[in-house]
Amino acid sequence: MRFSQLLIPTLKETPSEAEVVSHQLLLRAGFIRKLSSGIYSYLPLGLAAIRKVERIVREEMNRAGAQELLLPMVQPGDLWKESGRWEKYGPELLRFTDRHGRKSCLGPTHEEVITDLIRLNVHSYKELPLNLYQIQTKFRDEIRPRFGLMRGREFIMKDGYSFDASEEGADATYRKMHEAYHRIFSRCGLAFRAVEADTGTIGGSFSHEFMVLADTGEDTVVICSKCEYAANMEKARCLEPPAISPPPLLALTKIETPGKKKVAAVTEFLNISAKELVKTLVYMAEDKPVAVLLRGDHEVQTVKLANALGVNTDNLRLAEDKEIFDTTGTPSGYLGPIGLTIPVLADNELGRMHNFAIGANEKNFHLLNANLHRDFTVQTITDLRQITSEDLCPTCGGGLELTRGIEVGHIFKLGTKYSEALKATFLDNQGAEQPFIMGCYGIGVSRTVAAAIEQNHDKDGMIFPLPIAPFQVILLNLSPKDEAISAASSQLYDQLNKSGIEVILDDRDERPGSKFKDADLLGIPYRVMVGKSFSEKGEVEIKDRATGTTLNLPLAEAGAKLV
Ligand code: ATP
Ligand code: MG
Ligand code: MG
Ligand code: MG
Repeated sequence: MRFSQLLIPTLKETPSEAEVVSHQLLLRAGFIRKLSSGIYSYLPLGLAAIRKVERIVREEMNRAGAQELLLPMVQPGDLWKESGRWEKYGPELLRFTDRHGRKSCLGPTHEEVITDLIRLNVHSYKELPLNLYQIQTKFRDEIRPRFGLMRGREFIMKDGYSFDASEEGADATYRKMHEAYHRIFSRCGLAFRAVEADTGTIGGSFSHEFMVLADTGEDTVVICSKCEYAANMEKARCLEPPAISPPPLLALTKIETPGKKKVAAVTEFLNISAKELVKTLVYMAEDKPVAVLLRGDHEVQTVKLANALGVNTDNLRLAEDKEIFDTTGTPSGYLGPIGLTIPVLADNELGRMHNFAIGANEKNFHLLNANLHRDFTVQTITDLRQITSEDLCPTCGGGLELTRGIEVGHIFKLGTKYSEALKATFLDNQGAEQPFIMGCYGIGVSRTVAAAIEQNHDKDGMIFPLPIAPFQVILLNLSPKDEAISAASSQLYDQLNKSGIEVILDDRDERPGSKFKDADLLGIPYRVMVGKSFSEKGEVEIKDRATGTTLNLPLAEAGAKLV
């Protein structure tokens, strides 16, 4: 392609709205443009990089025996009601009603749609296993879209779903996907780690996230310095939790309250873990008033707790004298030094308002159900406590390191969660009806491009790993008015194109200095310059963007060197 004909609207200044380097560089290099919050247009170079990642993903998914299909993006609400996620998913699911009054949503993920497809079309163990994937635009109405392609509302995902007839089969498929993901991110030229992860709203029995290691990552990753152990902070364990001096509220666990007013009863009723309940409560609190109890000098700790739980701190306010726990009617003093109280309508048989409070001491979070004035229980949620670098590895006792990561892939063993909910069954070899055993496997394709830039850049611009660079070579004609230089540039350009090298010819009528700047900004792995030394010695210069090393060669040899 010729630079003069391509849409590459580079910017000299760093746009002020971009906080992280990938967002800044993607805008400056003319790869993307924002349409509205979390929604971007991919310009030719941005799309070219995305297509490179897609190609690697396709090759490795196909190699692992998966088949590509394409599912609708608009999904019927009724399917989501069948799985129970219409209620549970929360406002990230963009719901709307069509002209016939039918409830629909934009697909944030496709477990329901694929399970429906398989239940209608696959009936026997003989047709299994099946592993199907698509590469498609997803929509999630993220509460805080940010960092450009890193956390968009509209973004490109590869999502795959597997259906097996046995647990062993499902585990084998999971391992195959784990390996395929290793190959995909290695081929993309990224430094990454697979870490044990939480299953979140997707659900299921176990999962791994693939994390690109970068300081700007939103996730904290816990990695053992001695063995293979690695986990997302949310899931991380340690050898021996340090002894906690029991805070006053722990005593409350001993109070027996009758009936279903215990947190445990609520979590059981809603069929979620206490940890998920905390997340749900916090989530529901986002647009409801949250009273925060601050006493003495604990304000800092409260803000820390709110941050750890992802609560918008705008909702925090200082408790006024005597107001302590007024909103819940809970006697004061039970939450230890700090607490958040959250009114939430529990889906219980009484259909009444439950008030929950979350408390914390230094190491643990506590959930307190304060439904009635004197009936309350406390549950200590130790797995929410943050692991520190002073903790030891749960498998080998080695030291743990905390680093930042960007989640580019996530694989789940789902088991029968969706097949049971949607009654998706097959006949096994005894003729008995069984639910499919499922897995699901996501890759953030557009996020992977951003993560690659977070990991590979310098002060002058991006440094693309060769396999996902939008072009492999940028050929600079440094004197477009000089006939010999222009003829040599065109000749080399044709030769590279014929050999299947993806090359941009910078044929613009610009000063060499600005061509060098743009070439560095775009991060194309090899830059070839045809200029003064061609006129003088018949030589061109090849420069490696990553290492900065240069090589001067006669024109005739340059083509062969690059192929
Ligand atoms: P996150 O924790 O970052 O919100 P997630 O766990 O909600 O991601 P998954 O449901 O696991 O995401 O989706 C599969 C993959 O899709 C993720 O691993 C990530 O790479 C990508 N992804 C998810 N949300 C976004 C987003 N808002 N923008 C870009 N990519 C995303
Ligand atoms: Mg998410
Ligand atoms: Mg996640
Ligand atoms: Mg995930």
